[in-house]
Amino acid sequence: MSLSLVPDYVFRDYKSVTPTFLRELGVTMLMTDLDYTLAPKSRRKPDDAVRQWLQELRDAGVTVMVISNNRSSTRAGEFCDALGVPYVRHAGKPSRRGLREGMERAGKKPSECAFLGDKLLTDVLAAKRMGIPALMVEPLEGPVGAWNHVLHLLQRPFKSLSGHDQR
Ligand SMILES: [Mg+2]
Repeated sequence: MSLSLVPDYVFRDYKSVTPTFLRELGVTMLMTDLDYTLAPKSRRKPDDAVRQWLQELRDAGVTVMVISNNRSSTRAGEFCDALGVPYVRHAGKPSRRGLREGMERAGKKPSECAFLGDKLLTDVLAAKRMGIPALMVEPLEGPVGAWNHVLHLLQRPFKSLSGHDQR
């Protein structure tokens, strides 16, 4: 099996992933990364913008679940409980384990799902391995620290190869 690291769609941020776009893609469950995708890592509680986005997806019948690699025992739970969204923590992306667990819990098949995230080697690769559309966003409020700056520079050519760059 050959795997591509090119995201299927690139967006400026999560707000650009609309119910209309997901409907056209045939997606009824959006699995999403947490840190730098829905909020900067340092922000412990969801803001009004992410709450509103989630509500619009729910109103359109889309199931949303957070699949996070964050190593903290409390980060994903604290954020997701406040948002009222189910989550899988310590997901080990790019392993498919966390995505499988999420789909099983929601009773969804891969053909109904997509994955949203900001990192190529965890989020995009996990989606590709699962065979579901990989939606990629810019890190919210920009990369933090030297390593993340380098990482996001390295990701740039892969994003630009996406046939659907909507930034
Ligand atoms: Mg992230």
